[in-house]
Amino acid sequence: MADSPIQQIIFNKITFHLKRDDLLSTDFSGNKARKFHYLLTRDFQHITAIHSYGSLQSNAMASLSVLAKMRGWRFYYYTRANDSFEPKGNLAKALANGMIMRDIQEWPWERELMSQLIVKETDLYIPEGGRFPEARKGIEILAKELLEWGVDGKRVFLPSGTGTTALYLQKALFGKAEVATVPCVGDEEYLKKQFASLEPDAKYWPNVLNPPKKYRFGRLYKELFGLWEELCRQSGVEFDLLYDPVGFATLIYHGLLDGDLLYVHQGGILGNETMLERYKQKLDKIAQTKQG
Ligand SMILES: *Cc1c(COP(=O)(O)O)cnc(C)c1O
Repeated sequence: MADSPIQQIIFNKITFHLKRDDLLSTDFSGNKARKFHYLLTRDFQHITAIHSYGSLQSNAMASLSVLAKMRGWRFYYYTRANDSFEPKGNLAKALANGMIMRDIQEWPWERELMSQLIVKETDLYIPEGGRFPEARKGIEILAKELLEWGVDGKRVFLPSGTGTTALYLQKALFGKAEVATVPCVGDEEYLKKQFASLEPDAKYWPNVLNPPKKYRFGRLYKELFGLWEELCRQSGVEFDLLYDPVGFATLIYHGLLDGDLLYVHQGGILGNETMLERYKQKLDKIAQTKQG
C-alpha cells in the first residue's frame, strides 16, 4: 500500500484537491486500509482469531475479512442477520474470504460485553468500524503524506462514521491544517462523544459541520443520489454512496466547496453495488407512482 495520489478535481466549476485513498488497495476500503494498517504490519505471532461486530454490509467487515485471510486468522463477525438475506456486496466478499458469521439477536451488542467474552490471548477484538487507538498509526501515515504534498493552510475535509479517522488526522495535522468533518452516523453530539472516547482534549478535535438536514445513515435520499451522480459524472471519479453525498451536500450548504479544500476520498466503492440496487428500486417505484 503505497502513497495515494492527490488530484485536481472540478465540480460545479470549482477546482479543489482530492486525496485518492480509494486507490490505496482494491481489497481494503481506503479508510480501513489506514485504520487497520497496524493490524496488517505489526507482528502478532500469538493471535489466531479476530472478532468484530457491526452491520451486514459494513466496509470494516469486508476489509477485516481480507486482513484475516492474509494473516491466516479466523474471523468471527457478530451481526444481526435478517431471515431472507442474500449475500451480496461486502457480505458476499467477506463470506468468500472465510468469515464466520454469528447471528446475534440482541442489538446493540455491547462493546464491553464483547471484550469480556474475548479474553484469550490468542484472540483480538476490534471495535465496530475500527474505532480503536491503534488506528492512529495508519492515519499518521496519511497525515505525513498530506504534509509532504503541502497541505499547510488548506482545509481538509472528510465525512465521519465513528470519527476515528477525522480525529487522528486533525491531531496529526494540529497547528498545520484544519480538519473538518460531518457526522453521517448519528448527530454532532454522538460524534463528539466518539472523539472524547479517543481524545479527551477538545483542542485536537476536528471542526464538526452539520449537514443541511438530518440524514439517517444508510437511508436513501433522492437528492443525495442526484448529487452523487453529478459529482461522479463531472469529476470522472467514482465516489461512495453512503458518506460522500452527505459530505458534499454539507460542503455546498456551508459554502465551503472552494479552492482551499482538500477532500479525502476514503474508498467504500465495494459497498456501492448494494446501494445502487436499492436506489434503482426506489427510483423505479417513484417513476411508477408518477405515471400512475
Ligand atoms: C469507515 C468509513 C468511513 C468512516 O470512517 P470513521 O473513521 O469511522 O469516521 C468513511 N468513509 C468510508 C468509505 C468508510 O469505509
